[in-house]
Amino acid sequence: MAEKRDYYEVLGVNKNATDDEIKKAYRKLAKKYHPDANPDNKEAAEAKFKEVNEAYENLSDPQKRKMYDQFGHGGPQGFGGQGGPFGQGGYYSYSSSGFDGFSDFGDLGDIFSSFFGGGFGGRNSQNRRNGPSKGADLNVRMEITFEQAFSGVEKEIVITRDEECTHCHGTGAKPGTSPIKCPTCHGTGQVTQVQNTILGQMQTTRTCSACHGTGEIINEPCEYCHGKGTVRKQPKIKVKIPAGIDDNQTVVLRGEGEPGKKGGAKGDLYITVKVKKHSIFTRKGNNVLCEIPITITQASLGAELEIPMVGGSKEKYKIPEGTQTGSKFNIRNRGFRSINSNSIGDFIFTVIVQTPKRLSKEQRELLTQLAKTMNEQPPVKKRGLFG
Ligand SMILES: [Zn+2]
Ligand SMILES: [Zn+2]
Repeated sequence: MAEKRDYYEVLGVNKNATDDEIKKAYRKLAKKYHPDANPDNKEAAEAKFKEVNEAYENLSDPQKRKMYDQFGHGGPQGFGGQGGPFGQGGYYSYSSSGFDGFSDFGDLGDIFSSFFGGGFGGRNSQNRRNGPSKGADLNVRMEITFEQAFSGVEKEIVITRDEECTHCHGTGAKPGTSPIKCPTCHGTGQVTQVQNTILGQMQTTRTCSACHGTGEIINEPCEYCHGKGTVRKQPKIKVKIPAGIDDNQTVVLRGEGEPGKKGGAKGDLYITVKVKKHSIFTRKGNNVLCEIPITITQASLGAELEIPMVGGSKEKYKIPEGTQTGSKFNIRNRGFRSINSNSIGDFIFTVIVQTPKRLSKEQRELLTQLAKTMNEQPPVKKRGLFG
């Protein structure tokens, strides 16, 4: 397969496009490339149509769009799949398997009804109701400390989701019995009606009311799940947060969402990380910023400082004599590790010269002497001048 095109490029919008602009662009292109509108060129149109759909699916969902903006097509490097340092689960930026035929029209149904003059029905929407479908994604937020974001952390969270009923193995039928094919819709989950109107025959398709679209009837429901096939559970999930994660970034655990229907894949679990503010450190990009107070004598004479690092260690650093307040110093490679490359940020500290607020008698005399040598008017001997 050819290299994937940028989703924004596919839809012909810029990166800051609003949801509305994305939707408009999608409507236009979906109409243009719909295979039924291109009978002479069906295959090429269908390929375009799928591309447009995939782009829309990813850019219309705020979460997926954020992940895409953050990591692009490939997802975060180094953390994905089984081989990564975080093992099973891994991190995925978006679902590449999300496109299932023409199913994802949601609120766009109106363009297809105006386009086809009678509902976008037929085979595909039937599959959607009655065939396998992916389970819903779950979204949770997780708060971690600045240090945890710095070095990575493994946390357990409790989520609420449906899980397959172990009693009936998800069939919903009492063990020993099995669901039967719905006699009303013959297992399709849908009932089609043909009406004669002045415009000709109109075909309408409705969800079968006997089986509620499942295509199956359970005569003896499982007593544990009452025929649902699933039970509400609150499992504990281990989440590995990679070192370097930033506030508001999202980790995805594939397959930890709601169960799919009819053998469809499980949904995904999106964990959006909130990084707590630190009392002395802040983050800018992958750099750690910090303010270090120093005395006027350290500033004037130079000094060896002990700088606290994020991991808890200390780093010795010599500042030169004559250091001005506000000067910045850089300790290389002691910042955050980048989540999608091998680079590491720096630790940048700014020195703040503290003017003493209380002086001992001796200090005051020494400073007065110093002031004389600097051709300054010595301070008047009065309390409160310095503080
Ligand atoms: Zn059951
Ligand atoms: Zn039915």
